[in-house]
Amino acid sequence: MTHYRLELDQAACSISSKVTKELEGDFLKGVPFAYLLEKAEFYENVFYVNSRVLIPRPETEELVDILVREKKTYSNVLDVGTGSGVILLSLLLKNVAATGMGVDLSPDALKVAQTNARRLRLLDRCEFLKSDRLKEVHDFFELIVSNPPYIKAKSHRNLVHQQVDQHEPHMALYLDDQDYHSWFASFFTQVRDHLIPGGVFMMEGHELELEAQAKILKELGFQEVIVLKDLGGSNRFLRGKKA
Ligand code: GLN
Repeated sequence: MTHYRLELDQAACSISSKVTKELEGDFLKGVPFAYLLEKAEFYENVFYVNSRVLIPRPETEELVDILVREKKTYSNVLDVGTGSGVILLSLLLKNVAATGMGVDLSPDALKVAQTNARRLRLLDRCEFLKSDRLKEVHDFFELIVSNPPYIKAKSHRNLVHQQVDQHEPHMALYLDDQDYHSWFASFFTQVRDHLIPGGVFMMEGHELELEAQAKILKELGFQEVIVLKDLGGSNRFLRGKKA
C-alpha cells in the first residue's frame, strides 16, 4: 500500500511539475496572467478567457457601469463583437436587459462566450451567432452595445502596449487604416437598421476617432449623440439614440 502511495505521489508530482514548467515558460514569454490562469474578473464576476478573446479592460467595465447606473431596463440587447461575452452577460446579470444576443466573427470567441453564459447560468436568456457586425442578424433591439476592434493597424499601432500586440487576438484589436471609416459607417448603418425607434446604441472606441464617429452617427439621423470620457479622462465611449 505504502509502495503504491509513493508511486502515486511521484506521478502527481511529475505531472504538476510539467504543468508548472509550461506555465513558467509561458510566463517568461510574457503571456498575460489572464491567459495563463484562463480567467479574468469583470464587473463583479469571474469569466473564462483564452487567447482567442481580448482580456477584458476596466474601460469596458465603465461602459457596463454607465448603463447599470442609469437604471433603465431594456427588453433585449445585442452585443456586437461579443468576444468573451463580458459586456452582454454582465448586462443580463444586472438585469439591464431581460434577454440578449452576442455576435462575433470568430467561432472560437463564441465558444468562450457560450462557456461563460453556461457557467453564469444565463444560457436561457441569450443566444450567440457568428456574424460580421450585424450581417446575419435579423432581429430588432432596444439596446445595442459594442467594443469593436478600434485601433488603426498602421497609424495607431505604436500606441498599443507590446504585450497586448504580441498576445491578444489582432482581429479583436485592429482594422486596416484605409477601411476604418467605411467599416464604422456601414456598422453604424446596420445598427440604425436593427434598433427600434428610441433604441440606444453605446460603443467603446478610440480616443482619436470618436469625435469623427459621432459625426457619422448624426449624419445617419441618430439623436442625443454624445462622446463620453473614461475615468482616465480620454474620450472612450460613443452613444446615440435612434430617432
Ligand atoms: N482598449 C483596447 C486596448 O487598449 C483595445 C480594444 C479594442 O480594440 N476593442 O488595447
